[in-house]
Amino acid sequence: MKHHYLKNVVTLHLDEDKCTGCGMCIEVCPHEVLELSGKKVQMRDRDACMECGACAKNCSFSAISVNAGVGCAYALIRGALTNSQPSCDCSSTGRNESSCC
Ligand code: SF4
Ligand code: SF4
Repeated sequence: MKHHYLKNVVTLHLDEDKCTGCGMCIEVCPHEVLELSGKKVQMRDRDACMECGACAKNCSFSAISVNAGVGCAYALIRGALTNSQPSCDCSSTGRNESSCC
């Protein structure tokens, strides 16, 4: 099951004018947030973004920006250790003791 975070709070920003459609961001995104539409990338599922920053880091054209926090690292490590979908548990049920953000 795909995890979604709080609606409309993600800091992910895409500058379509700078996008060349190289597809690198799609390759590295763990949550299938982005998709190619013609020769540009568009956001397919913005609320599924975990703000890991991989897309922005791998975009050679500075077309993507996102405020990457520690939540992604926590989620990735926990997901790997528990063999589950990366999640920091800070969405629907609110903050809890082990939540990262
Ligand atoms: S990596 Fe950058 S230039 Fe390439 S498709 Fe993604 S946003 Fe566009
Ligand atoms: S920040 Fe991470 S989860 Fe969000 S779109 Fe970029 S690669 Fe995907």
